Amino acid sequence: MGDINKVLIANRGEIALRILRACAAMDIRTVAVHSTADRNLKHVAMADEAICIGPPPATQSYLNIPVIIAAMEVTNATAVHPGYGFLAENADFAERVEQSGFTFIGPRAETIRLMGDKVSAIRAMQEAGVPCVPGSGGPLPDDPEVCGQIAASIGYPVLIKAAAGGGGRGMRVVHDPAKLVESISLTQQEAGSAFGDKTVYMEKYLGNPRHIEIQVLSDNHGNAIHLGERDCSMQRRHQKVIEEAPAPGITEDERLRIGKVCTEACRRIGYRGAGTFEFLYENGEFYFIEMNTRIQVEHPVSERITGVDLVSEQIRIAAGEKLGYAQEDIRFLGHAIECRINAEDPENFMPSPGTIEAVHTPGGPGIRVDSHIYDGYTVPPHYDSMIGKLIAHGPDRATAMARMRVALDEMVVNGIKTNAGLHQRLLKDPGFIEGGNNIHYLEKLLAQDQK
Ligand code: ADP
Repeated sequence: MGDINKVLIANRGEIALRILRACAAMDIRTVAVHSTADRNLKHVAMADEAICIGPPPATQSYLNIPVIIAAMEVTNATAVHPGYGFLAENADFAERVEQSGFTFIGPRAETIRLMGDKVSAIRAMQEAGVPCVPGSGGPLPDDPEVCGQIAASIGYPVLIKAAAGGGGRGMRVVHDPAKLVESISLTQQEAGSAFGDKTVYMEKYLGNPRHIEIQVLSDNHGNAIHLGERDCSMQRRHQKVIEEAPAPGITEDERLRIGKVCTEACRRIGYRGAGTFEFLYENGEFYFIEMNTRIQVEHPVSERITGVDLVSEQIRIAAGEKLGYAQEDIRFLGHAIECRINAEDPENFMPSPGTIEAVHTPGGPGIRVDSHIYDGYTVPPHYDSMIGKLIAHGPDRATAMARMRVALDEMVVNGIKTNAGLHQRLLKDPGFIEGGNNIHYLEKLLAQDQK
């Protein structure tokens, strides 16, 4: 594939395995890098080469840029795939990779930088004609009076958000004008310590939106396509739990309209690779909140309904190839749902690492399992608690849900606690079955269960 004949996978877990599978199918050799806690990962055993890059804390291994570049040098890897999380949206990393003469499988460093700062991302999107949430349109000034005026003109409630925020952190809702100044300074402090950047901005707090995002692919030759939307409204603490495609109730017209807005924005900013435009959707309107410049956890639902292999496309684009698809080649077939399976206590949602005694993976028509776990595998305590994803596809939403119920019943993960019960609960819930719920639905349901 062009200059890409050996890819270093700068990640771990299920996504590292996913990238390895894409490379293997394209006859590209692979290098796994892992911390001392991750010697027993499945992709480490399967990769052509494996290198230990440091101790368990991610800052000393998966986030250690010089060590990862050195690993590329000693293994003669020509490209790096960052997966999601870790260095995937680190513009400095992308820049260092390219400066060292390697290919970064993702957008240009300047695009990552532009989108990594939510304030500059919103500005760029406004200029590109993408509808955004009414807001400050820039960083909040120090003057409390001016902030008060901005909030009043937006209208309460407002949301204070960290420009460098991510992972659902660095946000605070303000209902009462008297609390505005205090909330701004608290969010600034949190943003400073969590992200090393105190900049905050303000958005209208939408009361009951859905989270709907558009998957795009864009090459170096001015071609951009969208692969429809995903509904990621089932969230707990702003973290996605279940995702599906297409989004219930979104019409073909709406899909085409917002898809076109996104592909035009891609062309305008010279976007390269796979990306996601995240929107809140309320009363028939889309409001851009951020762009993710990487592959996402929930990418398989789009793959299932379009038949496009997004990770292979990322590699092909990075190799300088033209997009393998035109927009009219993209057909949406049926419905797909993904459940994120986490090693966590079903009562308190605390991570539940430990050794898995036995695993039984579900199968059958329309079932896909993306997971790195196996009998005897120990889930280390140092990283994200997601141990896999269960994806069910069917000709329609009801069939996809029915297949997912069977798959959840069939799945066995012994030895550790998982959130499988939560998914079973949701897939039997009349509200979920109806579909089209807003981002507060799951938390409200959990609160009711507590009573
Ligand atoms: P992060 O980068 O931390 O994921 P996002 O900007 O993508 O932050 O927002 C994460 C989630 O927070 C959204 O999916 C939504 O649930 C909620 N959220 C973000 N902005 C708003 C808003 N203006 N009004 C209401 N909810 C919001």
